[in-house]
Amino acid sequence: MQKWPIGVFASVDAGLGVHLDVARELSIPTVQLHAPHRESRTQQTADTFLKRCSDAGITVTAVFGGFEGESYADIATTARTVGLVPEKTRLPRLKEMKEISDFAKLLGCGTVALHIGFVPEDADGASYRGLIDATRELLDHVEANGQRLHLETGQETADHLLAFIEDVARDNLVINFDPANMILYGTGDPIEALKQVGRLVKSVHCKDATWAPPQERGEAWGREVPLGEGDVGMETYLRTLEDLGYDGPLTIEREIAHDRERQKADIGHAVRLLTELRAKILG
Ligand code: MG
Repeated sequence: MQKWPIGVFASVDAGLGVHLDVARELSIPTVQLHAPHRESRTQQTADTFLKRCSDAGITVTAVFGGFEGESYADIATTARTVGLVPEKTRLPRLKEMKEISDFAKLLGCGTVALHIGFVPEDADGASYRGLIDATRELLDHVEANGQRLHLETGQETADHLLAFIEDVARDNLVINFDPANMILYGTGDPIEALKQVGRLVKSVHCKDATWAPPQERGEAWGREVPLGEGDVGMETYLRTLEDLGYDGPLTIEREIAHDRERQKADIGHAVRLLTELRAKILG
């Protein structure tokens, strides 16, 4: 596969991301998949889906976990409901994430990924220690399936994410870098953050956003916008990835599932922009 193949976030059934047909119509060669509901995580679903992918010349590069009860309604709700951080749901979600890893294996995919949630600030606290233990348990399972776990960026600053990964201390824990999330959550300049965590970045999202006003950053969302129209700076982003030696897929994420037509148009535009910039940068 060529360096920096274009990708798109897609779903097996009705979930986050676009339907596979959109990737096929836009001739996008790779997808990251949002994991399907439990009842669809079967060998048969995997086989059928893989057949559709191979017919369309599409490779699955990552399977993202997500859980019932998660809500991204606002930043406070996200902190309360997302990932393995909330203690009430940690155990069942840990179990479910292992099942998602097993499903990814059925798809022949060596990468599982997730938003782990807002990692607690207090590294000596019980919640943080518990999260470390849960993450290690998940990583052991993922390792046995021959996979790595990619953590989505944005809910922590680069420093905090690095400290957490260091504390977990496992080789198969790396990063899916999403520059727009740094802006949306107000957790730091995306390019500086990318330089900081770059050695651990094994997959990326191509997504764009504009900052919330300074006095609201970290409390209110920034705004997700079509690729190239936000504050990330796509050319600088790609040049930084090139400097870091990143050669994996450029996976487009456009989170406007309520407007499928516009989503598809924006993704088509993003494909053209990334193709142009890739040619300009890689020559
Ligand atoms: Mg993302």
